[in-house]
Amino acid sequence: MTKQTLSFQAEVAQLLHLVTHSLYSNKEIFLRELISNASDACDKLRFEAINDSGLYESDSELKVKVTFDKDAKTLTITDNGIGMSTQEAIDHLGTIAKSGTKDFVSKLSGDQKADSQLIGQFGVGFYSGFIVADKITVESRRAGMKSEEGVRWISGGAGNFEVEAITRTERGTSVILHLREDAMDYASAWKVKSIINKYSDHISLPILMEKEEWKDGELINPSDENGGRQPGAMVKTGEWETINKANAIWARAKKDVTQEQYNEFYKQISHDFEAPLAHTHNRVEGSTEYTQLLYIPGKAPFDLYNREKSAGVKLYVKRVFIMDDAEALLPTYLRFVKGVVDSADLPLNVSRELLQESRDVKAIREGCTKRVLGMLEDLAKNDKLPEASAEGVTDVLSAEDKAEAEKNAGKYTKFYKEFGAVLKEGLGEDYANKERLAKLLRFASSTTDAVSVSFADYKARMKEGQEAIYYITADNAAAAKNSPQLEVFKKKGIEVLLMTDRVDEWALNYLQDFEGTPLQSVAKGAVDLGKLQDEAEKKAAEEAAETFKPLLAKLKEALKDKAEDVRVTTRLVDSPACLVVQDNGMSTQLARMLKQAGQ
Ligand code: ADP
Ligand code: MG
Repeated sequence: MTKQTLSFQAEVAQLLHLVTHSLYSNKEIFLRELISNASDACDKLRFEAINDSGLYESDSELKVKVTFDKDAKTLTITDNGIGMSTQEAIDHLGTIAKSGTKDFVSKLSGDQKADSQLIGQFGVGFYSGFIVADKITVESRRAGMKSEEGVRWISGGAGNFEVEAITRTERGTSVILHLREDAMDYASAWKVKSIINKYSDHISLPILMEKEEWKDGELINPSDENGGRQPGAMVKTGEWETINKANAIWARAKKDVTQEQYNEFYKQISHDFEAPLAHTHNRVEGSTEYTQLLYIPGKAPFDLYNREKSAGVKLYVKRVFIMDDAEALLPTYLRFVKGVVDSADLPLNVSRELLQESRDVKAIREGCTKRVLGMLEDLAKNDKLPEASAEGVTDVLSAEDKAEAEKNAGKYTKFYKEFGAVLKEGLGEDYANKERLAKLLRFASSTTDAVSVSFADYKARMKEGQEAIYYITADNAAAAKNSPQLEVFKKKGIEVLLMTDRVDEWALNYLQDFEGTPLQSVAKGAVDLGKLQDEAEKKAAEEAAETFKPLLAKLKEALKDKAEDVRVTTRLVDSPACLVVQDNGMSTQLARMLKQAGQ
């Protein structure tokens, strides 16, 4: 076959123009795209070879090699995957086969700015090579075809490309990028390595580069040891090294990953020195397919309360790194979770904006949220040693179960100390999971100093006739416990939950009841103790209100700018007076918070 010149399909020409003119601010993604293609090609070979092992041609170690030549100004990505026939090269590199891409191109307006935003949301794949190259040569031979049936494809990325037959003994594809002047820094081992580490570390295929070592320049003038030497340089040694870890632990089966490996991976992605409290690793199948590997850290980062920052989940698409801190994958109140989501359904070039809108992402977020809540529920369930909850239970446990129980004990308490306040944000943020979240909350109370009382514990201890869960909000536990508003509750032996996190006031606005029992602030309105108050007490209060009517009127007049109302109360035992807010009013605590925030 002689050389033929063919034109790109119109949409390709359009796309090419756009790629080269609008993606220069994010040049380095070309390498990710080309390595991802190489990896896909190896996956395809692996798949076809299931039925035809001859396709391996006695070279079954699939890999990607990246080489550069400073003098020739080229960067080459070579794989020994499936390769392309001439027709495949024409079809796959000259037309856009995927209907999605066609739709995409048809949306392009020609307005560079608008288009560059659009293109950021789309995988431009092979053509991204033209961001850094003014010419691309592809040489390939398809697995199973003869050496003479190789193909060379060349294009300058304008209107057309050339193809010709070549002889190529090695199976697979080399993509040779002829670097533009302003992209020459990609002909550097350091640069290429750092990009691969950033984007492609978890490609499960080894990515190889030729080792280099420093060689002093030749001595031109032996009498002058220092001045008479030509400049030294890094020279290739002919030895290859694997530069990625080729270690996508989330893509492996659970049984093939040890606890140790899970912990190491966590440390690597979180920069935490300690092991995590728990992890969950699942492959989710169905209409949206993805793998999740999520961790709960043992310690809060210093900027936990910055809601703007820190989402801890990395997004991969088919083991290719897409972005850090993908906040769309988990709700904000779970921003302490670290880990990886690897989706099979999203395009490689998916942007943050697109993530917000994607239905797949919505399904992933719901799935991940459920998993994290499940993990927390497990931690909470195992927080106490069994003997603490039921006598004698530990006797029937095997030594193994006992050790497991001991390992898990106290973890939820530790978690809650670090992240409890953040979890509460979920009451307002995640309506669908409000009930589950409420069960995970823990408080100190008027009878228990430790922050360990759940709503369920509280309910189990409620007094006969008690109809509400009582709580008080304050700056700290001491202030809460000594509040005059608690006096009547203390006298009657009614437990009151102490809410001392800044977020409590806001969060509790979203929780009116717990499993049918209303939540009632002791600092709001007239405390109605309902059936807890006996007839005599009620009568005494009514009489007092009558007796003190003239006094109340005077007090009301004197305080008219400061107080809405002045009334006789049964809530005090020792103190003469206390401040309360109206039932539907903003609490004193919240008012103080807003004032601090300058509102
Ligand atoms: P995508 O990878 O999303 O299909 P690309 O633009 O990245 O889109 O690649 C277009 C097509 O070119 C691929 O689908 C594949 O058929 C072919 N191709 C690209 N690179 C290679 C390669 N290294 N080996 C074999 N085929 C390749
Ligand atoms: Mg691709």
